[in-house]
Amino acid sequence: MNLDNLIQKCVASGQLSRDEILYLLNLDGDDDVARLLRAADDVRKAECGDAVQIRALVEISNTCARSCLYCGIRAPNKDIVRYRMPADEIVELAGELNKKGLKTIVMQSGEDPYYTAGIVADIVRRIKDSTQMAITLCFGERPEEDYRLWKQAGADRYLLRHETANRDLYAKLHPDSDFDHRMRCLYALREIGYQVGAGCMVGIPGQSVDNMADDIEFFRDFQPDMAGIGPYIPHPDTPFAGNPAGDVQMTLKMVALARIVTRNALLPATTAIGSIAEMGCEMALDAGADVVMPNYTPLKYRVHYEIYPNKRCITEDPAFDDLATRLQIQATNRRISNDPGHSRKLKISKTLADTQEGVPIPNLGI
Ligand code: SAM
Repeated sequence: MNLDNLIQKCVASGQLSRDEILYLLNLDGDDDVARLLRAADDVRKAECGDAVQIRALVEISNTCARSCLYCGIRAPNKDIVRYRMPADEIVELAGELNKKGLKTIVMQSGEDPYYTAGIVADIVRRIKDSTQMAITLCFGERPEEDYRLWKQAGADRYLLRHETANRDLYAKLHPDSDFDHRMRCLYALREIGYQVGAGCMVGIPGQSVDNMADDIEFFRDFQPDMAGIGPYIPHPDTPFAGNPAGDVQMTLKMVALARIVTRNALLPATTAIGSIAEMGCEMALDAGADVVMPNYTPLKYRVHYEIYPNKRCITEDPAFDDLATRLQIQATNRRISNDPGHSRKLKISKTLADTQEGVPIPNLGI
């Protein structure tokens, strides 16, 4: 394969075949990798501009019913202090964040049945009524009726990482969750009208480069509005303790390829990449990313949302984190967006029914 031609194709259309994706994922010379990352940065500049979107992340609960083998807040982990933020505290915090000028709040938690559909709908409605912020939810797999209720209450976006697009690997990582069900949730969310975020980990135990190509093909075909890509980081109180963390360069290649195949999706420089590499967020912003998510969870809770150890900014004051975020953006010569950063995708995406009937999903990019 000719790298010059392939790089041109990445910039011009991003319509990559599986073989081309595999070839690019396997690049290992520093100069070649730099060319790929630059191509992604060029696509980002052309399709998304220079503004970096800021999302205020609030981790409302670390209680989780699931047993995902990699995650530090998995239900069987007894060495963790569990917390739940009361609804009033969440709504009040959203108001403070809005006063600071933040225009999007992302509420994330483990899969916590305490937050019933009604409780979440009430929180969403109160935040929307009092702030008009864009509201993103990240509460895992829930019944379709819950997703619908929250949308009607005012939620705009839903993040549900697919984790891995390889069915066999998915089954090995998730003893109590089903690949098809997760995919159905993603399609249902889109059907209901959410801006939908997918995403995956890089370097998870058992994952091959072939499996990573599955993720890029999934991004190419599903065309998510957002995609979170971060390295796997081992947690000592999980069955995967002692495994190596995902590789920084491979994570950057995955971010770059996600940018190239989705064209204009919103791609965060994830906390995980900032946690394993000193300049991880800046490097991701230079490889196609265009979103940062400073953590505004109150510190008394934040230290317990330990999905992996040594999470970036786990101990700093949120104000410091915000400053750090702004400095990171300056370091990449970009500017901070002053709008809510809604999806740039056209709303003509295909539904699950179309794919089940075998109709190929067109690349909706550009
Ligand atoms: N429960 C929700 C869900 O299932 O989507 C959201 C919370 S979950 C803790 C958020 C994300 O953290 C997951 O989608 C996963 O990709 C990531 N994560 C969990 N453990 C991790 C680890 N050890 N290293 C890197 N990322 C991890």
